[in-house]
Amino acid sequence: MPVLVMKFGGTSVADLDRIKNAAEKVRREVERGYDVIVIVSAMSGKTNELVGWVTQTSHLYDAREYDAVVSSGENVTAGLMALTLQEMDVPARSWQGWQVPLKTSAVHAAARIEEIPRDNLDAKFAEGMKVAVVAGFQGIAPDGRITTLGRGGSDTTAVAFAAAFDAERCDIYTDVDGVYTTDPRIEDKARKLDKIAFEEMLELASLGAKVLQTRSVELAMRYKVRLRVLSSFEETGDNSGTLVCDEEEIMESNVVSGVAYVRDEAKMTLISVADRPGIAAAIFGPLAEAGVNVDMIIQNISEEGRTDMTFSCPVDQVARAEAAVNAAKEAGEINFHGLVADTDVAKVSVVGIGMRSHAGVASKMFKALSNEGINIKVITTSEIKVSVLIERKYMELAVQALHDAFELEKA
Ligand code: ADP
Ligand code: ASP
Ligand code: MG
Repeated sequence: MPVLVMKFGGTSVADLDRIKNAAEKVRREVERGYDVIVIVSAMSGKTNELVGWVTQTSHLYDAREYDAVVSSGENVTAGLMALTLQEMDVPARSWQGWQVPLKTSAVHAAARIEEIPRDNLDAKFAEGMKVAVVAGFQGIAPDGRITTLGRGGSDTTAVAFAAAFDAERCDIYTDVDGVYTTDPRIEDKARKLDKIAFEEMLELASLGAKVLQTRSVELAMRYKVRLRVLSSFEETGDNSGTLVCDEEEIMESNVVSGVAYVRDEAKMTLISVADRPGIAAAIFGPLAEAGVNVDMIIQNISEEGRTDMTFSCPVDQVARAEAAVNAAKEAGEINFHGLVADTDVAKVSVVGIGMRSHAGVASKMFKALSNEGINIKVITTSEIKVSVLIERKYMELAVQALHDAFELEKA
């Protein structure tokens, strides 16, 4: 039997009626002749509530227990989805990650999938099970402890199952009807894309578009999974939603295909560090060890052997970053005159593979921002994107201005 993977996100399983609505979609695919692997998220808001309970209980929590707690939301929806399908006379059962088993690395809260053996599910499909409902976001480490895959991780669970079971497609059902030129919640002129190239989707996801977890796009690209994003609240057919596919499958595309943002960034500057070989390693080594996800880095022009070093990281990692550089200073590994944290910044990026062959994207971006009176604090570029840090209160305005400037509402 051909296999189809269907993933339902938090809002798609937010209550019993929505679970029933999702189960109807699953039943339809079973009737079309598929063996279906359904991946479910926790009910919307549940994971945030569980994370809150953990941090209220323990400030410097044990990450293994964090995973034990936050993975539980998915267990509930997996069981409820299996029951709902059984009520519709569809042979279904639920699977928690460890039961499959979905084997991961031991990096708690950010584990990577290592292997999904097929035997257990295949045996049940051979016995007549039509639907395996798998709890997303979770797995089991080599030492037997429960792990989670990072926020948004059910997308990655879905793509990994699609790859392991040679699924015909991996359908990601969510609360929007596809991938848009930017977040439709911020820009109502955002346009749905029928197709988007893996590389562009990868860049958009890693620059903040949370419609797909970055790792899920990486896996789909590597294993050539046909990945589709579509709405759980609309009637859907073979051509619904957005197909994430190879560049060659896309006939025409704009130079810039999308705008992404990260709301909660911070910019930190170490004032007057010694400008000598090894200084960057001495600063960013301890930050990496402390688990700080450093994004942009700029070293300013040096004067008299000293320089300012600026970097950005997520705002909730500022305390950890400060502790790490202060510890390195106390240990005599680095020396600086001051540490300034600007916790009021957001990152806005434009993405497009057309940038490889078209000049002028960066200057057009800067002009559009300056027309709105928005000051740029930091700039980074790569082959297919330009990102800027700006004051957070201008974030929505910047996204809208860039969407207009690059005429993204037009195909
Ligand atoms: P789920 O719970 O189904 O996993 P998410 O909330 O993780 O859903 O992702 C869907 C959300 O992603 C949308 O509601 C939308 O606000 C946001 N989003 C951000 N950027 C984009 C984009 N470019 N296209 C579509 N949705 C986007
Ligand atoms: N429930 C998890 C989260 O909120 C995983 C997911 O929904 O993809 O991050
Ligand atoms: Mg998600």
